[in-house]
Amino acid sequence: MSHEDCIFCKIIKGEIPSAKVYEDEHVYAFLDISQVTKGHTLVIPKQHTRNLYDTPSEVASNLFAAVPRIANAIKDTYGAIGMNLLNNNEAAANQQVFHLHLHLLPKYSEEEGFSAIWKTHADDYSMDDLQHIAQEINKNVAN
Ligand code: AMP
Ligand code: ZN
Repeated sequence: MSHEDCIFCKIIKGEIPSAKVYEDEHVYAFLDISQVTKGHTLVIPKQHTRNLYDTPSEVASNLFAAVPRIANAIKDTYGAIGMNLLNNNEAAANQQVFHLHLHLLPKYSEEEGFSAIWKTHADDYSMDDLQHIAQEINKNVAN
């Protein structure tokens, strides 16, 4: 089920701290430390898969089932006017963590579009800041 050396499996198990946005039986969602935009969230399956290529349909279905509610919660919390869903598969596509994950990237400006510069803002947020943002979003996830 989980892979010993996988950083995201450790996050699911609570062995590495994260700012949790949402959790259910199959899915875990937490803030991306890089916060490319405020509320930038990663949605991952609890069952470890490397990326889309080795992901069973059922795992993919359960993963995606949670995405609209998380997207709406992010949108409602900080008034995002757009959102990109991004998924990188293999190093050639810039996959850096080899546990399947979907990036939810809220957009706050009409100008950004798809061409937004991928720039980390990790230095702008403390772990307390991230926990606060995650809790704000979590309150807005519909049941
Ligand atoms: P990718 O390039 O799609 O594999 O993205 C990996 C993402 O994971 C990057 O955007 C990182 O900022 C993010 N990331 C790596 N380690 C952590 C962590 N411990 N907590 C939150 N996000 C992380
Ligand atoms: Zn994993």
